[in-house]
Parts: sequence; structure tokens; C-alpha cells
Amino acid sequence: MGILEGKRALITGIANEKSIAYGIAKAFHREGAELAFTYANEKLKSRVEEIAHEFGSHLTFECDVSKDEHIKAIGSALRSAWGSLDILVHSIAFAPREEFKGGVIDTTREGFKIAMDISVYSLIALTRELLPLMRSGGAILTLTYYGAEKVVPHYNVMGIAKAALESTVRYLAYDIAKYELRINAISAGPVKTLAAYSITGFHLLMEHTTKVNPFGRAITIEEVGDTAVFLCSELSRAITGEVLHVDNGYHIMGVFGREEEIK
Ligand code: NAD
Repeated sequence: MGILEGKRALITGIANEKSIAYGIAKAFHREGAELAFTYANEKLKSRVEEIAHEFGSHLTFECDVSKDEHIKAIGSALRSAWGSLDILVHSIAFAPREEFKGGVIDTTREGFKIAMDISVYSLIALTRELLPLMRSGGAILTLTYYGAEKVVPHYNVMGIAKAALESTVRYLAYDIAKYELRINAISAGPVKTLAAYSITGFHLLMEHTTKVNPFGRAITIEEVGDTAVFLCSELSRAITGEVLHVDNGYHIMGVFGREEEIK
């Protein structure tokens, strides 16, 4: 029997089979969870429907998180489909491509607002909407990145947004604890996804990170998926407000270079 047997999970943020949320959905399905999915816009509808079928689900809903009415609609749709929810996976981030070109100093007011709205406020809004549906023992999970903690050139306003997201996780953890609900974040190492390719020089970032982390290899979405299972299952019932790194240990390094390279 899978560890998520009997659990109902809403997965946001799948754009294709390379999405981190796809790796999470795959692991949840393997562990017996029932799944529902959201997609950001019409263009993604059929792809997300196909992915939903792959995981034995017919529940797919459009949800552009910049629209309050879409977020409200998710609440009503899940209320009629399931009546309750155990897990919410928030795997959404966005900033206009130009924001990843120069430095933080070039951030526009509009770019800042969009990044914070889509990548941070959406977690608060979705949590508030879905809270009444969530059963005691349930869990919320979001995705963050090391650029929240340290300077990663070109990550820019998204680093600021991820820092705000990590803080949001802590504040929400406090708010929802009274309902016996938890929220955590996975800080994933770089993965080649659509979102990642918006970042100028992403391939260099990926190459560097892969070379110098203790294991000397890239992480996979399956590895993120397995950690997500842990963080959304009862095995992690005493963990909330946490940011767990799934990065092959990159964040523990003080000097970047594997032994053989810095001799
Ligand atoms: P992805 O492009 O596959 O997923 C990003 C998702 O955000 C897409 O499905 C997109 O449709 C959705 N989205 C964007 N704007 C939206 C909106 N207005 N409404 C609803 N959805 C919207 O890329 P990914 O790398 O899987 O990103 C998922 C999460 O993982 C993001 O929060 C990202 O910052 C985070 N993350 C990614 C990496 C990486 O290297 N790829 C590393 C650490 C954290």
C-alpha cells in the first residue's frame, strides 16, 4: 500500500513532462494519491489533460493565479468533485523574461509586482481558498530556490520573490497549524524546465552547480517527487515552515570546487 493511499492532492504548475510538478505527480500517483490538476491557460489545457489521464485523473481546471475568480473557482470545483482535500502542491513562479537579463538594480516596478503576485501571493490566495476543504493532517508544499538565500547572477527579482515565498511558508505554517495542517518548501537544485530557460545564462548555472555539488550530478524531478511524498505524508507530521534543500548538497558548500579540482 502506498504511503499516500486515501489522500487527495491538487497539483498546480505542470507545463509539460519536464516540470517539477510532473515529477511530484508521478511520485504521488505511485504512492496511491488521487490527483487533480490545474493549468495556467488554454494553451496548456490539452497537455495537462493528457498528463492527468496518465495518472488516472479526469480532474483538470484552468487556474491563472493572477485572477481571483480562477482561484475561487478551484475551491468550488474541488468542493463538488471531492468535498475535501489533503494536499496542495504550489509549483508556480513567473517574472517577465527581461527581469532576468541585467541585475536586480534594473528591476521594473511592473516586473516586481508580477513576480511577487504570481510567485508569492498565489500561495497565500490558494491556501486561503482551499483551507476550508483541507482535512486535518493535510499538507501544502511549494517550490523555492537557493537564489532566495544567496546571490545568483541574473536570478534577480525572482530571488527576492523566493525569499518572500520562504517567509510566507513560515507565516502560513503558524496560521494553519491550528487546523492541524502543515506547509513546507523544497529548495530544488537547477532543473532544465521551461521556467528555468527564461533565466539568462541558465545553462552555465546548471553546469556550475552540477560540477561542484558534493555528488557532482544534477538532481532529477523524480528526486524532488520522492521528497515531496515525504513532506506531504504523515512521516513528516512534526515538520512545518521548513525549507528542505533537494540539491545534492550544493548549499552546504563554502568553497566551490570538488577536491580534485582545487588541489
Ligand atoms: P515549469 O515552467 O515547468 O513550471 C512553472 C509553472 O508555473 C508552469 O506550469 C506555468 O504554467 C506556471 N505558471 C506561470 N504563471 C502562472 C499563472 N499566472 N497562473 C498559474 N500558473 C502559472 O518550471 P519548473 O521549474 O517546474 O517550476 C516550478 C517551480 O519550481 C517554480 O516555483 C520554480 O521557481 C521552482 N524551481 C525551479 C527550479 C529549476 O531549476 N527549474 C529550481 C528550484 C525551484
